[in-house]
Amino acid sequence: MPISFEIPEFIQQQGQMVKWLAETTMRPYARELDENEHQRPKEFIEQMWPILRDQQKATLDKLQRTESNGEQGEKKPKRASTRMLGLLVQIEMLSWGDAGIYLCMPSPGLGGAAIESVGTTEQKIRLLTRFAEGEKPVWGAMAITEPGAGSDNSAMSTTAVFDEETNEWVINGEKIFITSGKLSLEESNGLVIVWATVNKAAGRAGIKSFVVEAGTPGVSIGKVEIKHGIRTSDTAVLVFNNARIPANNILGSPEVQASKDSKSFQGAMATFDASRPLVAASTLGVGRAALEFLKEKLAENGVEIPYGQPYHKLTAIQRDVMDMESELHAAYLLTLRSVAMMDEGLHNSLEASMAKVKAGKVVTEVAQKAVALLGSLGYSREWLVEKWMRDAKIGDIYEGTGQINTLVVARRILGYSRHELS
Ligand SMILES: Cc1cc2nc3c(=O)[nH]c(=O)nc-3n(C[C@H](O)[C@H](O)[C@H](O)COP(=O)(O)OP(=O)(O)OC[C@H]3O[C@@H](n4cnc5c(N)ncnc54)[C@H](O)[C@@H]3O)c2cc1C
Repeated sequence: MPISFEIPEFIQQQGQMVKWLAETTMRPYARELDENEHQRPKEFIEQMWPILRDQQKATLDKLQRTESNGEQGEKKPKRASTRMLGLLVQIEMLSWGDAGIYLCMPSPGLGGAAIESVGTTEQKIRLLTRFAEGEKPVWGAMAITEPGAGSDNSAMSTTAVFDEETNEWVINGEKIFITSGKLSLEESNGLVIVWATVNKAAGRAGIKSFVVEAGTPGVSIGKVEIKHGIRTSDTAVLVFNNARIPANNILGSPEVQASKDSKSFQGAMATFDASRPLVAASTLGVGRAALEFLKEKLAENGVEIPYGQPYHKLTAIQRDVMDMESELHAAYLLTLRSVAMMDEGLHNSLEASMAKVKAGKVVTEVAQKAVALLGSLGYSREWLVEKWMRDAKIGDIYEGTGQINTLVVARRILGYSRHELS
Protein backbone atom coordinates (compact mmCIF):
# COMPACT_ATOMS: atom_id res chain seq x y z
CA MET A 1 0.00 0.00 0.00
CA PRO A 2 1.54 3.35 -0.99
CA ILE A 3 1.64 5.74 1.94
CA SER A 4 2.45 9.39 1.60
CA PHE A 5 4.62 10.70 4.41
CA GLU A 6 3.57 14.25 3.58
CA ILE A 7 1.23 15.78 6.14
CA PRO A 8 -1.42 17.81 4.24
CA GLU A 9 -1.15 21.59 4.62
CA PHE A 10 -4.43 22.00 6.53
CA ILE A 11 -3.41 19.36 9.10
CA GLN A 12 -0.06 21.12 9.56
CA GLN A 13 -1.95 24.37 10.16
CA GLN A 14 -4.17 22.67 12.75
CA GLY A 15 -0.98 21.36 14.36
CA GLN A 16 0.37 24.93 14.62
CA MET A 17 -2.83 26.07 16.31
CA VAL A 18 -2.60 23.18 18.77
CA LYS A 19 1.04 24.10 19.38
CA TRP A 20 -0.08 27.56 20.44
CA LEU A 21 -2.59 25.98 22.85
CA ALA A 22 0.10 23.67 24.19
CA GLU A 23 2.47 26.59 24.77
CA THR A 24 -0.09 28.86 26.41
CA THR A 25 -2.48 26.56 28.29
CA MET A 26 -0.33 23.51 29.07
CA ARG A 27 3.42 24.12 29.51
CA PRO A 28 3.04 27.09 31.90
CA TYR A 29 0.87 24.99 34.26
CA ALA A 30 2.60 21.61 33.87
CA ARG A 31 4.78 21.75 36.98
CA GLU A 32 2.13 23.17 39.31
CA LEU A 33 -0.45 20.60 38.22
CA ASP A 34 2.08 17.77 38.53
CA GLU A 35 2.71 18.79 42.12
CA ASN A 36 -0.99 19.16 42.98
CA GLU A 37 -2.23 15.90 41.60
CA HIS A 38 -5.99 16.22 41.78
CA GLN A 39 -6.21 19.84 40.70
CA ARG A 40 -7.92 20.34 37.30
CA PRO A 41 -6.31 22.21 34.37
CA LYS A 42 -9.02 24.89 34.24
CA GLU A 43 -7.50 27.17 31.58
CA PHE A 44 -6.93 24.24 29.23
CA ILE A 45 -10.43 22.82 29.73
CA GLU A 46 -12.03 26.25 29.18
CA GLN A 47 -10.07 26.78 25.96
CA MET A 48 -10.64 23.28 24.61
CA TRP A 49 -14.34 22.73 25.35
CA PRO A 50 -15.82 25.09 22.69
CA ILE A 51 -13.38 23.76 20.06
CA LEU A 52 -14.08 20.10 20.83
CA ARG A 53 -17.82 20.67 21.13
CA ASP A 54 -17.87 22.21 17.63
CA GLN A 55 -15.81 19.33 16.22
CA GLN A 56 -18.17 16.83 17.83
CA LYS A 57 -21.16 18.73 16.45
CA ALA A 58 -19.76 18.56 12.93
CA THR A 59 -19.25 14.77 13.29
CA LEU A 60 -22.79 14.33 14.58
CA ASP A 61 -24.31 16.49 11.82
CA LYS A 62 -22.58 14.25 9.28
CA LEU A 63 -23.96 11.14 11.00
CA GLN A 64 -27.45 12.59 11.10
CA ARG A 65 -27.28 13.38 7.37
CA THR A 66 -26.20 9.78 6.68
CA GLU A 67 -29.06 8.53 8.83
CA SER A 68 -31.68 10.70 7.10
CA ASN A 69 -30.34 9.69 3.65
CA GLY A 70 -31.08 6.11 4.71
CA GLU A 71 -28.44 3.62 5.81
CA GLN A 72 -29.95 0.97 3.57
CA GLY A 73 -29.46 2.99 0.38
CA GLU A 74 -26.94 2.05 -2.25
CA LYS A 75 -23.53 1.90 -0.58
CA LYS A 76 -21.12 4.45 -2.01
CA PRO A 77 -17.45 3.44 -2.15
CA LYS A 78 -15.77 4.54 1.08
CA ARG A 79 -13.58 7.63 0.60
CA ALA A 80 -10.21 7.71 2.30
CA SER A 81 -10.25 10.17 5.16
CA THR A 82 -7.57 12.11 7.04
CA ARG A 83 -9.32 11.98 10.41
CA MET A 84 -6.86 9.69 12.18
CA LEU A 85 -3.90 11.51 10.65
CA GLY A 86 -5.28 14.80 11.99
CA LEU A 87 -5.72 13.21 15.42
CA LEU A 88 -2.17 11.87 15.37
CA VAL A 89 -0.76 15.35 14.72
CA GLN A 90 -2.99 17.02 17.32
CA ILE A 91 -2.49 14.44 20.07
CA GLU A 92 1.26 14.31 19.56
CA MET A 93 1.37 18.10 19.86
CA LEU A 94 -0.94 18.25 22.90
CA SER A 95 1.17 15.64 24.66
CA TRP A 96 4.30 17.58 23.75
CA GLY A 97 2.54 20.31 25.77
CA ASP A 98 1.71 17.95 28.64
CA ALA A 99 0.46 14.35 28.44
CA GLY A 100 -1.40 14.49 31.77
CA ILE A 101 -3.22 17.70 30.89
CA TYR A 102 -4.03 16.33 27.42
CA LEU A 103 -5.82 13.40 29.09
CA CYS A 104 -8.12 15.91 30.83
CA MET A 105 -9.43 17.10 27.48
CA PRO A 106 -13.25 17.27 27.66
CA SER A 107 -14.19 14.71 25.02
CA PRO A 108 -15.81 11.27 24.65
CA GLY A 109 -12.29 9.82 25.01
CA LEU A 110 -11.94 6.06 24.80
CA GLY A 111 -15.66 5.75 25.48
CA GLY A 112 -16.27 7.63 22.24
CA ALA A 113 -13.86 5.38 20.35
CA ALA A 114 -15.89 2.38 21.55
CA ILE A 115 -19.20 3.96 20.57
CA GLU A 116 -17.82 4.83 17.14
CA SER A 117 -16.39 1.34 16.60
CA VAL A 118 -19.29 -0.74 17.90
CA GLY A 119 -22.39 1.45 18.31
CA THR A 120 -25.32 1.65 15.92
CA THR A 121 -26.06 4.99 14.24
CA GLU A 122 -28.95 5.52 16.67
CA GLN A 123 -26.62 4.91 19.62
CA LYS A 124 -23.92 7.18 18.22
CA ILE A 125 -26.36 10.05 17.82
CA ARG A 126 -28.12 9.50 21.16
CA LEU A 127 -24.98 8.99 23.23
CA LEU A 128 -22.61 11.47 21.63
CA THR A 129 -25.02 14.42 21.49
CA ARG A 130 -24.04 15.49 25.03
CA PHE A 131 -20.49 16.11 23.74
CA ALA A 132 -21.78 18.40 20.99
CA GLU A 133 -23.86 20.85 23.01
CA GLY A 134 -24.12 22.62 26.33
CA GLU A 135 -22.17 25.19 28.23
CA LYS A 136 -20.33 22.82 30.50
CA PRO A 137 -17.60 20.39 29.45
CA VAL A 138 -18.37 16.67 29.31
CA TRP A 139 -16.07 13.63 29.53
CA GLY A 140 -16.26 9.99 28.49
CA ALA A 141 -14.24 6.96 29.58
CA MET A 142 -13.84 3.23 29.09
CA ALA A 143 -13.79 0.76 31.98
CA ILE A 144 -12.28 -2.65 31.28
CA THR A 145 -9.63 -3.30 33.97
CA GLU A 146 -10.60 -5.00 37.24
CA PRO A 147 -8.65 -6.08 40.31
CA GLY A 148 -8.49 -9.64 38.91
CA ALA A 149 -8.48 -8.83 35.20
CA GLY A 150 -5.82 -6.60 33.62
CA SER A 151 -3.96 -7.95 30.62
CA ASP A 152 -6.27 -10.95 30.57
CA ASN A 153 -9.52 -9.06 30.36
CA SER A 154 -11.47 -12.23 29.57
CA ALA A 155 -11.15 -13.01 33.30
CA MET A 156 -13.40 -10.09 34.20
CA SER A 157 -16.11 -10.64 36.77
CA THR A 158 -18.28 -7.52 36.47
CA THR A 159 -21.71 -8.85 35.53
CA ALA A 160 -24.64 -7.53 33.53
CA VAL A 161 -27.96 -9.29 34.10
CA PHE A 162 -31.08 -8.47 32.13
CA ASP A 163 -34.19 -7.75 34.19
CA GLU A 164 -37.12 -8.54 31.91
CA GLU A 165 -39.65 -6.98 34.24
CA THR A 166 -38.12 -3.53 34.12
CA ASN A 167 -36.42 -3.91 30.72
CA GLU A 168 -33.08 -2.89 32.22
CA TRP A 169 -29.55 -4.24 32.58
CA VAL A 170 -28.30 -4.55 36.14
CA ILE A 171 -24.53 -4.06 36.52
CA ASN A 172 -22.46 -5.23 39.48
CA GLY A 173 -18.68 -5.10 39.92
CA GLU A 174 -15.62 -2.93 40.30
CA LYS A 175 -13.39 -1.32 37.68
CA ILE A 176 -9.97 0.10 38.52
CA PHE A 177 -7.54 2.61 36.99
CA ILE A 178 -10.18 4.27 34.83
CA THR A 179 -8.88 7.35 33.02
CA SER A 180 -11.35 10.25 33.43
CA GLY A 181 -13.68 8.00 35.44
CA LYS A 182 -14.45 10.68 38.02
CA LEU A 183 -14.64 13.46 35.44
CA SER A 184 -17.13 11.43 33.40
CA LEU A 185 -19.48 10.22 36.11
CA GLU A 186 -19.15 12.70 38.96
CA GLU A 187 -17.95 15.99 37.53
CA SER A 188 -19.94 16.11 34.29
CA ASN A 189 -22.95 14.70 32.50
CA GLY A 190 -20.68 12.15 30.81
CA LEU A 191 -20.67 8.41 30.32
CA VAL A 192 -18.47 5.36 30.74
CA ILE A 193 -18.39 2.28 28.53
CA VAL A 194 -18.26 -0.66 30.92
CA TRP A 195 -17.21 -4.12 29.77
CA ALA A 196 -19.15 -6.80 31.66
CA THR A 197 -20.04 -10.44 31.24
CA VAL A 198 -23.57 -11.66 30.60
CA ASN A 199 -22.40 -15.26 31.04
CA LYS A 200 -19.15 -15.93 32.90
CA ALA A 201 -19.06 -19.58 31.78
CA ALA A 202 -18.94 -18.44 28.13
CA GLY A 203 -15.57 -16.63 28.61
CA ARG A 204 -14.89 -14.01 25.94
CA ALA A 205 -18.18 -14.75 24.18
CA GLY A 206 -20.05 -13.54 27.24
CA ILE A 207 -18.36 -10.14 27.36
CA LYS A 208 -20.31 -7.15 26.02
CA SER A 209 -19.97 -3.41 26.40
CA PHE A 210 -22.54 -1.28 28.22
CA VAL A 211 -23.07 2.44 28.50
CA VAL A 212 -23.37 3.78 32.04
CA GLU A 213 -24.41 7.43 32.14
CA ALA A 214 -23.68 10.01 34.84
CA GLY A 215 -26.39 10.10 37.47
CA THR A 216 -27.14 6.36 37.32
CA PRO A 217 -28.08 5.22 40.86
CA GLY A 218 -25.79 2.50 42.23
CA VAL A 219 -22.60 3.94 40.68
CA SER A 220 -19.95 5.38 42.97
CA ILE A 221 -16.38 6.61 42.66
CA GLY A 222 -13.92 4.76 44.86
CA LYS A 223 -10.25 5.62 45.22
CA VAL A 224 -8.70 8.24 42.93
CA GLU A 225 -5.12 7.12 42.20
CA ILE A 226 -1.97 8.97 43.20
CA LYS A 227 0.48 8.22 40.37
CA HIS A 228 4.09 8.22 39.21
CA GLY A 229 3.42 10.15 35.97
CA ILE A 230 0.59 11.84 34.00
CA ARG A 231 -0.44 13.08 37.44
CA THR A 232 -2.95 15.65 36.12
CA SER A 233 -4.96 12.85 34.53
CA ASP A 234 -7.87 11.59 36.62
CA THR A 235 -7.57 7.82 37.27
CA ALA A 236 -10.41 6.37 39.35
CA VAL A 237 -11.98 3.23 40.76
CA LEU A 238 -15.62 2.82 39.72
CA VAL A 239 -18.01 0.69 41.77
CA PHE A 240 -21.28 -0.64 40.35
CA ASN A 241 -23.77 -1.85 42.90
CA ASN A 242 -27.01 -2.91 41.20
CA ALA A 243 -26.58 -0.07 38.71
CA ARG A 244 -29.60 -0.17 36.39
CA ILE A 245 -29.25 1.05 32.82
CA PRO A 246 -31.78 1.06 29.94
CA ALA A 247 -32.05 -2.05 27.72
CA ASN A 248 -30.72 -0.14 24.69
CA ASN A 249 -27.52 0.87 26.50
CA ILE A 250 -25.82 -2.37 25.46
CA LEU A 251 -23.54 -1.32 22.60
CA GLY A 252 -23.96 -2.71 19.11
CA SER A 253 -26.56 -4.04 16.73
CA PRO A 254 -29.20 -6.52 17.99
CA GLU A 255 -27.21 -9.36 16.31
CA VAL A 256 -24.02 -8.39 18.12
CA GLN A 257 -25.90 -8.02 21.40
CA ALA A 258 -27.47 -11.46 21.08
CA SER A 259 -24.40 -13.23 19.66
CA LYS A 260 -23.31 -16.33 21.54
CA ASP A 261 -19.84 -16.47 19.96
CA SER A 262 -16.96 -14.08 20.62
CA LYS A 263 -17.90 -11.72 17.75
CA SER A 264 -19.11 -8.99 20.07
CA PHE A 265 -15.89 -9.26 22.12
CA GLN A 266 -13.83 -9.05 18.95
CA GLY A 267 -15.93 -6.03 17.94
CA ALA A 268 -15.21 -4.36 21.27
CA MET A 269 -11.50 -5.18 20.86
CA ALA A 270 -11.59 -3.34 17.52
CA THR A 271 -11.70 -0.15 19.59
CA PHE A 272 -7.97 -0.73 20.19
CA ASP A 273 -7.18 -0.50 16.47
CA ALA A 274 -8.03 3.20 16.74
CA SER A 275 -6.90 3.86 20.28
CA ARG A 276 -3.46 2.20 20.28
CA PRO A 277 -1.99 4.41 17.51
CA LEU A 278 -3.34 7.44 19.35
CA VAL A 279 -1.73 6.32 22.61
CA ALA A 280 1.47 5.90 20.58
CA ALA A 281 1.02 9.46 19.25
CA SER A 282 0.64 10.82 22.77
CA THR A 283 3.72 8.93 23.93
CA LEU A 284 5.70 10.31 20.96
CA GLY A 285 4.78 13.85 21.99
CA VAL A 286 6.41 13.25 25.40
CA GLY A 287 9.51 11.82 23.69
CA ARG A 288 9.82 14.78 21.35
CA ALA A 289 9.48 17.21 24.27
CA ALA A 290 12.37 15.47 26.07
CA LEU A 291 14.57 15.26 22.97
CA GLU A 292 13.99 18.87 21.88
CA PHE A 293 14.76 20.10 25.38
CA LEU A 294 17.94 18.04 25.52
CA LYS A 295 19.13 19.42 22.16
CA GLU A 296 18.32 22.96 23.26
CA LYS A 297 20.37 22.59 26.45
CA LEU A 298 23.26 20.93 24.60
CA ALA A 299 23.26 23.77 22.05
CA GLU A 300 23.37 26.33 24.89
CA ASN A 301 26.53 24.54 26.01
CA GLY A 302 28.06 24.54 22.56
CA VAL A 303 27.21 20.94 21.62
CA GLU A 304 25.69 20.83 18.14
CA ILE A 305 24.58 17.68 16.32
CA PRO A 306 26.56 17.50 13.06
CA TYR A 307 24.20 15.59 10.76
CA GLY A 308 25.86 13.99 7.76
CA GLN A 309 29.18 13.31 9.51
CA PRO A 310 30.54 9.76 9.60
CA TYR A 311 29.57 7.97 12.81
CA HIS A 312 33.18 7.51 13.96
CA LYS A 313 33.74 11.27 13.92
CA LEU A 314 30.95 11.92 16.42
CA THR A 315 31.29 12.26 20.16
CA ALA A 316 29.45 9.81 22.42
CA ILE A 317 26.77 12.43 23.21
CA GLN A 318 26.26 13.27 19.54
CA ARG A 319 25.82 9.56 18.78
CA ASP A 320 23.39 9.17 21.65
CA VAL A 321 21.27 12.08 20.42
CA MET A 322 21.24 10.77 16.85
CA ASP A 323 20.24 7.29 18.04
CA MET A 324 17.45 8.76 20.14
CA GLU A 325 16.26 10.81 17.19
CA SER A 326 16.26 7.92 14.74
CA GLU A 327 14.45 5.58 17.14
CA LEU A 328 11.83 8.23 17.82
CA HIS A 329 11.41 8.75 14.08
CA ALA A 330 11.04 5.01 13.49
CA ALA A 331 8.27 4.90 16.11
CA TYR A 332 6.64 7.93 14.47
CA LEU A 333 6.70 6.27 11.03
CA LEU A 334 5.10 3.10 12.41
CA THR A 335 2.40 5.21 14.04
CA LEU A 336 1.88 7.15 10.82
CA ARG A 337 1.50 3.88 8.94
CA SER A 338 -1.07 2.52 11.40
CA VAL A 339 -3.24 5.66 11.22
CA ALA A 340 -2.87 5.94 7.43
CA MET A 341 -4.15 2.36 7.11
CA MET A 342 -7.13 3.17 9.28
CA ASP A 343 -7.88 6.28 7.23
CA GLU A 344 -7.74 4.10 4.10
CA GLY A 345 -10.29 1.72 5.68
CA LEU A 346 -7.70 -1.08 5.96
CA HIS A 347 -7.43 -3.54 8.84
CA ASN A 348 -4.60 -2.26 11.06
CA SER A 349 -4.56 -4.38 14.27
CA LEU A 350 -1.01 -5.56 13.62
CA GLU A 351 0.31 -2.10 12.79
CA ALA A 352 -1.57 -0.51 15.73
CA SER A 353 0.13 -2.89 18.16
CA MET A 354 3.53 -2.42 16.46
CA ALA A 355 3.27 1.36 16.81
CA LYS A 356 2.20 1.08 20.45
CA VAL A 357 5.05 -1.32 21.38
CA LYS A 358 7.71 0.73 19.62
CA ALA A 359 6.56 4.13 20.90
CA GLY A 360 6.21 2.87 24.50
CA LYS A 361 9.69 1.36 24.52
CA VAL A 362 11.53 4.09 22.63
CA VAL A 363 10.02 7.03 24.50
CA THR A 364 10.67 5.44 27.89
CA GLU A 365 14.33 5.09 26.86
CA VAL A 366 14.61 8.51 25.20
CA ALA A 367 13.18 10.38 28.20
CA GLN A 368 15.39 8.43 30.60
CA LYS A 369 18.47 9.10 28.48
CA ALA A 370 17.64 12.81 28.26
CA VAL A 371 17.62 12.97 32.07
CA ALA A 372 20.89 11.05 32.21
CA LEU A 373 22.64 13.30 29.67
CA LEU A 374 21.47 16.44 31.46
CA GLY A 375 22.99 15.28 34.75
CA SER A 376 21.84 16.51 38.14
CA LEU A 377 19.73 19.34 36.74
CA GLY A 378 17.98 16.84 34.51
CA TYR A 379 16.99 14.95 37.63
CA SER A 380 15.88 18.06 39.51
CA ARG A 381 12.41 19.59 39.52
CA GLU A 382 13.88 22.76 38.06
CA TRP A 383 13.20 21.40 34.59
CA LEU A 384 10.29 19.40 33.20
CA VAL A 385 12.51 16.68 31.76
CA GLU A 386 12.31 14.53 34.91
CA LYS A 387 8.51 14.78 34.66
CA TRP A 388 8.59 13.69 31.03
CA MET A 389 10.62 10.66 32.14
CA ARG A 390 7.79 9.81 34.56
CA ASP A 391 5.06 10.63 32.01
CA ALA A 392 6.68 8.43 29.35
CA LYS A 393 6.21 5.09 31.10
CA ILE A 394 2.42 4.98 30.91
CA GLY A 395 2.68 4.66 27.11
CA ASP A 396 4.10 1.21 27.73
CA ILE A 397 1.36 0.19 30.18
CA TYR A 398 -2.20 1.18 29.28
CA GLU A 399 -4.12 0.04 26.17
CA GLY A 400 -2.23 -3.25 26.44
CA THR A 401 1.26 -3.40 27.95
CA GLY A 402 4.38 -3.65 25.79
CA GLN A 403 4.48 -7.41 26.42
CA ILE A 404 0.83 -7.92 25.46
CA ASN A 405 1.12 -5.88 22.27
CA THR A 406 4.31 -7.79 21.39
CA LEU A 407 2.27 -10.98 21.76
CA VAL A 408 -0.42 -9.56 19.45
CA VAL A 409 2.27 -8.73 16.86
CA ALA A 410 3.84 -12.19 17.13
CA ARG A 411 0.50 -13.99 16.85
CA ARG A 412 -0.51 -11.97 13.79
CA ILE A 413 2.82 -12.40 12.01
CA LEU A 414 3.17 -16.11 12.82
CA GLY A 415 -0.51 -16.93 12.41
CA TYR A 416 -0.91 -18.40 15.90
CA SER A 417 -4.09 -18.28 17.96
CA ARG A 418 -4.09 -16.99 21.56
CA HIS A 419 -4.15 -20.63 22.74
CA GLU A 420 -1.04 -21.45 20.73
CA LEU A 421 0.94 -18.37 21.86
CA SER A 422 0.14 -16.81 25.23
C1 LIG B 1 -2.61 5.58 34.62
C2 LIG B 1 -3.41 4.41 34.13
C3 LIG B 1 -4.56 4.64 33.39
C4 LIG B 1 -5.33 3.54 32.98
N1 LIG B 1 -6.51 3.78 32.29
C5 LIG B 1 -7.35 2.74 32.04
C6 LIG B 1 -8.66 2.98 31.48
O1 LIG B 1 -9.04 4.11 31.16
N2 LIG B 1 -9.48 1.91 31.32
C7 LIG B 1 -9.10 0.65 31.66
O2 LIG B 1 -9.90 -0.26 31.51
N3 LIG B 1 -7.86 0.39 32.16
C8 LIG B 1 -7.00 1.40 32.36
N4 LIG B 1 -5.75 1.17 32.90
C9 LIG B 1 -5.36 -0.19 33.21
C10 LIG B 1 -4.32 -0.74 32.23
O3 LIG B 1 -4.89 -0.93 30.97
C11 LIG B 1 -3.77 -2.03 32.85
O4 LIG B 1 -2.96 -1.62 33.94
C12 LIG B 1 -2.98 -2.86 31.89
O5 LIG B 1 -3.83 -3.44 30.94
C13 LIG B 1 -2.20 -3.99 32.59
O6 LIG B 1 -2.99 -4.69 33.46
P1 LIG B 1 -2.51 -4.95 34.96
O7 LIG B 1 -2.10 -3.66 35.54
O8 LIG B 1 -3.56 -5.72 35.67
O9 LIG B 1 -1.20 -5.83 34.82
P2 LIG B 1 -1.10 -7.42 34.67
O10 LIG B 1 -2.01 -7.91 33.62
O11 LIG B 1 -1.23 -8.02 36.02
O12 LIG B 1 0.39 -7.57 34.14
C14 LIG B 1 1.53 -7.43 34.99
C15 LIG B 1 2.77 -7.64 34.12
O13 LIG B 1 2.75 -8.96 33.53
C16 LIG B 1 2.85 -8.87 32.11
N5 LIG B 1 2.03 -9.91 31.48
C17 LIG B 1 0.75 -10.20 31.73
N6 LIG B 1 0.34 -11.22 30.93
C18 LIG B 1 1.40 -11.56 30.16
C19 LIG B 1 1.61 -12.52 29.13
N7 LIG B 1 0.65 -13.34 28.72
N8 LIG B 1 2.83 -12.58 28.55
C20 LIG B 1 3.84 -11.74 28.93
N9 LIG B 1 3.70 -10.81 29.91
C21 LIG B 1 2.49 -10.73 30.50
C22 LIG B 1 2.32 -7.47 31.78
O14 LIG B 1 2.84 -7.02 30.56
C23 LIG B 1 2.84 -6.65 32.95
O15 LIG B 1 4.18 -6.31 32.74
C24 LIG B 1 -4.93 2.23 33.28
C25 LIG B 1 -3.73 2.01 33.99
C26 LIG B 1 -2.98 3.07 34.42
C27 LIG B 1 -1.72 2.81 35.19
